[in-house]
Amino acid sequence: MLNILISNDDGIYSNGIYELAKRMTRLGKVTVVAPDREQSAIGHAITMHQPLRCRKIKLHELSIDAWWVSGTPADCIKLGIETLLEARPDLIISGINNGENLGTDIIYSGTVSAAIEGSIFNIPSIAVSYEKHGETDFSLIAEVAVNMIEEVLKLAAGTNTLLNINIPEIANINELKGIKITKLGVKKYRNNFEERKDPRGISYYWLAGELVEDEIGEDTDIHAIRNGFASITPLHVDLTGYADIEKMQKWDIKVRRGNQ
Ligand code: MN
Repeated sequence: MLNILISNDDGIYSNGIYELAKRMTRLGKVTVVAPDREQSAIGHAITMHQPLRCRKIKLHELSIDAWWVSGTPADCIKLGIETLLEARPDLIISGINNGENLGTDIIYSGTVSAAIEGSIFNIPSIAVSYEKHGETDFSLIAEVAVNMIEEVLKLAAGTNTLLNINIPEIANINELKGIKITKLGVKKYRNNFEERKDPRGISYYWLAGELVEDEIGEDTDIHAIRNGFASITPLHVDLTGYADIEKMQKWDIKVRRGNQ
């Protein structure tokens, strides 16, 4: 039986993880290990300078093992695999995130970072996000997600898959145009730091990012989502800039000592 670890960055009590976990039980034994509070945009941070507390809870009516952890999504995956789960998971699913994780978003995303952490353990890992941010009934989206995961597992059998799935805003299944394999696009934000004053008259700043531009070639995740397709982007963790490495290895770069 498939041993499945589910996490997210919206917190263990978010609707997205509940609707996902409920349906993933069709595929195997599900364990949820997720942050005790929202950790969106926490990236791949891990907790080193304070203890991690965790508690086993009942996740609504589900008869699955579930823990909250006082840490980040990456902490949850590490602690889950190393300590909380009885057996090493065969599959990690992170989500369903409340809001898309497209293009450059994945650098900041706790949801995607949980999946990346799973892949560092050489476990097939999939992040799932929903385009729309806000109050969402995730039942339809979770149904779509689990069906996609099931298909992908059949097709990707035996590989160490790291995938980023996004599902477009849809009201019913007929609105979903199809599924595309994509590359990451580029999203740009205007970072407005709004200045305010605290009660002592000292300035503080509040980040209010505004999406101003998408670079959206037809083969990108952003293009797929904006046109009603679900998107699957294969990821890998190696950040080496291979395009430059050969050219740079020819540089005659010297150690500078003193005033030589
Ligand atoms: Mn989130």
